[in-house]
Amino acid sequence: MFDINKLVRSNIKNLAPYSSARDEFSGEAKVFLDANENSLGSPLNKWYNRYPDPHQVKVKQAISQVKSVAAESIFLGNGSDECIDLLYRCFCTPGKDNIIICPPTYGMYQVSAEINDVEIRKAPLLDDFQLNLAHLETLADENTKIIWICSPNNPTGNSLHRQDIETVLNNFNGLVVVDEAYINFARQKSWVQELAEYPNLVVLQTFSKAWGLAGLRLGMAFASKEIINVMDRVKPPYNINQVTQELALKALEEVGQVNDMIRLLVDMRNALAEVLVQLPGVQKVYPSDANFLLVKINKARDVYNYLLEKGIVVRDRSNVLLCEDCLRITIGTEEENTALVDALNQLN
Ligand SMILES: *Cc1c(COP(=O)(O)O)cnc(C)c1O
Repeated sequence: MFDINKLVRSNIKNLAPYSSARDEFSGEAKVFLDANENSLGSPLNKWYNRYPDPHQVKVKQAISQVKSVAAESIFLGNGSDECIDLLYRCFCTPGKDNIIICPPTYGMYQVSAEINDVEIRKAPLLDDFQLNLAHLETLADENTKIIWICSPNNPTGNSLHRQDIETVLNNFNGLVVVDEAYINFARQKSWVQELAEYPNLVVLQTFSKAWGLAGLRLGMAFASKEIINVMDRVKPPYNINQVTQELALKALEEVGQVNDMIRLLVDMRNALAEVLVQLPGVQKVYPSDANFLLVKINKARDVYNYLLEKGIVVRDRSNVLLCEDCLRITIGTEEENTALVDALNQLN
C-alpha cells in the first residue's frame, strides 16, 4: 500500500515552514507595513514594489479551469526544474535513498539527484525506446523513492506505452513521476486525469514548450493534495515572481492561439520528418510525439559542426546511450526548417 508518511523525509515531516508576511496577513487592508518593501514604489511600475502571492491563487485557478484539475492538486515551480529538485528534497534522504531513471532521458533527473546526494539506478530503455519493466522491477527496493518516466521522452521523442506506465504505477509504492513536458504535441492523452486513481502519481508539465513561455520559468506539478502540501512546505515562499504570475494569467486566456501553434508545429514536424528521411546520409528519423526529431545520420558529429558553420545549432546526442550517431533537431519556423534542409542538401 502507498503511504505518503513513509515516503516523506523525517526532517521535512517535522518542519515548521517559513511564514512570510503575506502568509500571516491575507485580508483586506490599505496600509502594508509588514514586509519591509519600498513603500514609495519602484522605478518600473507601482505594483512591483510588493511581494507576489506566495500561493499563486489566481494562476492556479486559471490552470485548474484549463486542465480540469483541482487547484489543491497543483504546484507551481520556477520551471519544472524546480519541481524536480523539490521532489528530491521532500522525499529522498541524501546518502540513503535511491531513485530510478530510464536513459536516454532528460538530464536534470540525474543532475538533481547528484546535487542532492541521492543514489541513481538506471533501467535503460529497450531498443524501441520503451520501458524495460523486468529490469525496473529488479532495481526497486525499500529505499527507492522515485521512478522517473518521461513521456513523450526527451531526447527520443516517443511516448511510452500507457500500459507499461500503468504497470509501474500499480506495482511500485514510491512516487512515479511522469514528465509530460511535450504532452501537447502527442497523440497520447495526459495522466493528469488519473490522479484520483493513483496516489503515487506526480505529473509534470511546463509553460516552456507548447505554451511558448520558456523565458518566464513556470513549471507545474500535479499530484494528490497530500503530495502538493509537502512540496508547498519546502518551496521558497516567493518562488514564482509577480511578472510571471501576471503574464501566465494572460497567456492562459489564449488557449486557442496556443492550440493553433501546436497544430502548426505538429504539421511541420511531420513534414520535416518526411523530407529529412530522404536526404543522403540520413539513416533514420525516429517517430516523434514532441516538437523535435531524433535523426540518425552518418558522421553525426561532423554534420553537427558543419551546421554550426552555417549558423544552425542542433543538439548533438551522438555520445548518448542508444542515440549513437543521432542529432536532436527542434522544429523551427518554416524558414528555419527550410534553411536546415537546404544546408543538409549541400552537404557532401
Ligand atoms: C524542456 C523540458 C522540461 C522543462 O523544464 P522547465 O524547467 O520547465 O523549462 C522538463 N522536462 C523535460 C523532459 C524537458 O525536455
